[in-house]
Amino acid sequence: MTLPIDESTTAPAARVRVLLPLPLAGAYDYRVDPATPVSPGDFVRVPLGRRVEIGVVWDGASDPATPIAAERLKTILDRLDAPPVSAVTRRFVDWIAHYTMSAPGAVLRMAMSVPAALEPAAPQWGWVLSPGAPNPVVAEPGAARLTPGRRRVLEAMAHGAARSTRDIAATAGVSSAVVTSMAELGWLVPAVLPATHRREPDGAHPGPVLSPAQREAADALAGRIDAGFAATLVDGVTGAGKTEVYFEAIAAALRAGRQVLVLLPEIAMSAQWLARFEQRFGAVPASWHSELNAGQRVRTWRDVAAGRARVVVGARSALFLPYRDLGLIVIDEEHEQAFKQEDGVIYHARDMAVVRAHLGRIPIVLVSATPSLETVVNVSRGRYRCVHLPARHGGATLPAVELVDLRREPPPPRAWIGPRLRAAVAANLAAGEQSVLFLNRRGYAPLTLCRSCGHRLQCPHCTAWLVEHRLAGRLQCHHCGYSARIPRTCPSCDAEDRFAPCGPGVERVAEEARALFPAARLEIMTSDTIGGPDAASAFVERMIAGEIDLLVGTQIVAKGHHFPGLTLVGVVDADLGLAGGDLRAGERTYQLLHQVAGRAGRAGKPGRVLLQTHLPEHPAMQALAAGDRDGFLAGEIDTRERLGLPPFGRLAALIVAGPEPDEVDRLCRHLAGRAPAGPGVTVLGPAPAPLAILRGRHRRRFLVRASRDVPIQDLIADWLAAVKHSARVRIQIDIDPYSFL
Ligand code: ADP
Ligand code: ZN
Repeated sequence: MTLPIDESTTAPAARVRVLLPLPLAGAYDYRVDPATPVSPGDFVRVPLGRRVEIGVVWDGASDPATPIAAERLKTILDRLDAPPVSAVTRRFVDWIAHYTMSAPGAVLRMAMSVPAALEPAAPQWGWVLSPGAPNPVVAEPGAARLTPGRRRVLEAMAHGAARSTRDIAATAGVSSAVVTSMAELGWLVPAVLPATHRREPDGAHPGPVLSPAQREAADALAGRIDAGFAATLVDGVTGAGKTEVYFEAIAAALRAGRQVLVLLPEIAMSAQWLARFEQRFGAVPASWHSELNAGQRVRTWRDVAAGRARVVVGARSALFLPYRDLGLIVIDEEHEQAFKQEDGVIYHARDMAVVRAHLGRIPIVLVSATPSLETVVNVSRGRYRCVHLPARHGGATLPAVELVDLRREPPPPRAWIGPRLRAAVAANLAAGEQSVLFLNRRGYAPLTLCRSCGHRLQCPHCTAWLVEHRLAGRLQCHHCGYSARIPRTCPSCDAEDRFAPCGPGVERVAEEARALFPAARLEIMTSDTIGGPDAASAFVERMIAGEIDLLVGTQIVAKGHHFPGLTLVGVVDADLGLAGGDLRAGERTYQLLHQVAGRAGRAGKPGRVLLQTHLPEHPAMQALAAGDRDGFLAGEIDTRERLGLPPFGRLAALIVAGPEPDEVDRLCRHLAGRAPAGPGVTVLGPAPAPLAILRGRHRRRFLVRASRDVPIQDLIADWLAAVKHSARVRIQIDIDPYSFL
């Protein structure tokens, strides 16, 4: 994996490769105008057909297989005055492109997601006092045109520096029209505003006193700063104080003058994390997620590139920001599947972050109470280090987990809260304590059918049932976003008002709970009811303030929140995640339910967790009840090793999709006829994907299994190169697949 990183520039070449942020096969050759020499990493404007594109001067010589005659070369138009793409980032782009089998330009596009930030920053204009302005101290109070408002502005501006209209108006307590009127009088003259910078996190800001176990772990992490690549797992139960521990590593990196990247799986839900960070470091970090507006993106991009932004917290895409001097990466909740990007360039941000750390020769910290099996195996192989935090901070105990066998203690007909869970909630409410009912399914009911003819309401574009969302009064497809009003008549038999919801979603459980506990202050928390970070934090605040007795929610309630007053968690259907049966179903179920359970009893009072299940004998359920994570993992590791599944073997999925099923099948037959074979290689498929139609495209899947010593990318590249097909059918490659839909 080691690649030479060389920042030194060589003699200017007459001809260079330029990578464009477009899904093209590779970099293109361009001629360099001797008057504007360029170096690898420079942003340049180049002609492409009749367009002008911004690209990056790439390393290496042009491809001898497709030489372009010198006289046919186009010339680079100009070089942008923006910080160049570092050698580490260039190697990172190449590495991801090769590993994920994506066009390098498609990867570069992720590293150039804010083109506006490459243009020079326009200066911001404000005002200074003109020498000709009246002196408010000596001027007569009633002097012509010197109104009290204007007088206050003159006083506010007396001390010199340029200030914006808004700033002046706010300080002087006048409207901005007053400020503009004074500019018209010539009392204020335009001036460039000094660049304002956000307050940055301070590595010297004092933190809490750590417990001895925390201290030891923190020292181990901090000792890796500026000491080359190292991957370390921070393994500790929920509430063990892992966050405080990796905050110490961040502090050490800041004191060493380096930048830090923290990846969180659900950045929209991170309000509580941000508040803690601010308390610990005296300022919030720069955040990077899909809800930033264009201006915020540009500013953050420039701050990161200039090294001004010291800490960035973000979602997957924050990996591709132009760090000037990244010195530490932290992946919180490293086991989360949200780190896998499932469209465009398909990559796992945790795994790519490890590659990024390796290329940049910096430490990376992976944090989890339920580490992924892959990470645990990396620890046992000695590739990753591990620090343990065995107990909850402050002596809080872990909640007791009980399994409720739904076969023996079923809920009443058309209800989902069984007698034991009902009694537990009632007792908890009577004791004035908070409870959570958890069901990882959005909406009211996952299926709606006609009682007259049995017709099921299905998405017109996908092989999927429409999910009723009663709060929104809509039917929704959770795969393509299709949404429609609930019809009155059955599209199959024309019967009127005969639709019946089947099965529970979180809204339906809330309805049931409301009927059972009418006095409780009940709220629903799902990604449908929580818009953005602000709504999420308001919600969390209300929960912490004790304004909610009973919270009914999806996995969004499980994400890292610290609810001190929460003592009961009821999982309505613990088996939901086991249904698909893919290789990680048990692991994922364990992780999610452990995390939900971990919300209970985080402060003084002990917590209780009830898991309603039809499969109490399942290893994941048994392990949850016994608190035996390591035993469960050992069993899973054993199974994967026996079957040669990741991380003991390699896996890649090919998804063949197109608008015409016949065309897709024809290509699949061609592919099957040329499928790679050989020692350690198995190709399964083609088989219709479980989501056989998605957005109107028919999908078939191949699964390639190979032993670890087989370069699976080369194998697939050779395979696909041998099969020509029309552009209407697309082949998507998913290396290390997590979704098998
Ligand atoms: P984890 O990340 O392992 O789930 P946290 O870091 O969130 O655990 O810690 C759990 C709770 O204990 C938090 O409220 C945190 O503020 C508190 N805590 C952890 N370590 C300390 C410490 N050294 N001093 C004071 N409070 C701490
Ligand atoms: Zn759909």
